[in-house]
Amino acid sequence: MSLEITINQVEQTRISSYDIENVGFGKVFTDHMFSCDFIDGKWVDLRIEPFGKIPLSPTLSALHYGQAIFEGMKAFKNEAGHVSFFRPLENLKRLNFSAERMCMPTLTEEIFMEALQRLVALDVNWIPVKSGSALYIRPFMFATDDFLGVKQSETYKFMVYACPVNAYYTHYLKVKIEEFYTRGAQGGAGAAKCAGNYAAAMYPTKLAQQAGFDQVLWTDGATHTFLEETGTSNVFVVTKDAVYTPELTDTLLAGITRKSVIEYLKDAGKPIIEKHVSVSELIKWHEEGSLLEMFVSGTAATLTNIELFNYKGKDYVLKMDIDLLSNQIKIVFNDIRMGLIPDRFNWMVALKEYALINQ
Ligand SMILES: *Cc1c(COP(=O)(O)O)cnc(C)c1O
Repeated sequence: MSLEITINQVEQTRISSYDIENVGFGKVFTDHMFSCDFIDGKWVDLRIEPFGKIPLSPTLSALHYGQAIFEGMKAFKNEAGHVSFFRPLENLKRLNFSAERMCMPTLTEEIFMEALQRLVALDVNWIPVKSGSALYIRPFMFATDDFLGVKQSETYKFMVYACPVNAYYTHYLKVKIEEFYTRGAQGGAGAAKCAGNYAAAMYPTKLAQQAGFDQVLWTDGATHTFLEETGTSNVFVVTKDAVYTPELTDTLLAGITRKSVIEYLKDAGKPIIEKHVSVSELIKWHEEGSLLEMFVSGTAATLTNIELFNYKGKDYVLKMDIDLLSNQIKIVFNDIRMGLIPDRFNWMVALKEYALINQ
């Protein structure tokens, strides 16, 4: 028995107004969106409607006290028209982790997957097929109580919308290693994909951008001496001896791309070490000539190399004309997503056919 989802389809698709193979990142949204409401302890009124504005009360508690979380994931379509999601259950797991941290209700696998399957089935024509392109899917949840006081909301809305996307970063990154501002503190909410983390990062990011960098490379809040991650991506450091990535703590986001890179490297027999990497270690590797490469990993950005990092006002430049490990990984990930090689890690979840027929 599948869930009861009310579907109200658009009369006319907007797709012909766009060249979905060349839309850039996050500017164009598909025809439909999914919503449901958490009322009296249950998710009710599951529905798919035309994408559009939603009415908000000025008292909406998410706007004031920030109980708001989100996920970012992708669906891919290959030349043969086969559609699949990349590790969607990992996104559900993390959404529920974020929900618990923010005192919000969790979602069942059934609701989450059915929302994805039905929405993507309806908007399947919006998925670009060009390499590096995908349908970006944004599940999110926010508090909807109309109440002035600070308390956990009793009602919530969970929604999903989607947009065709092409490559995110088209260049290598210059990052500033942060020495003052903090993204996540021990015992804080850095490991949750909650809205406030991104709001708090904007000012330090603006300062870094004004100084000519693309992104902040965050360090630990207590000592500012260990690498953490960038704004929306995890970081990897490749040396002659091993690949390093900061170990997971409650101050950084457990990226699904990060996890996939680690699984791939382990499978390929490459030494991959999850540990705290200090800035002084990084600089020492750079000075010795053993630092080969740095890249960031995330759903939006996939893998993007860092060509320069700055610490205490000094630039450290990485050689980019080498055989980049990130490129090898990107090719394998792309081939798995496009069904060009077997999915030996079991990462992909196919769009169910019944969802297509049931439209
Ligand atoms: C979403 C996010 C990531 C990357 O996670 P993926 O699951 O790989 O997309 C890393 N860091 C932060 C802060 C993020 O918000």
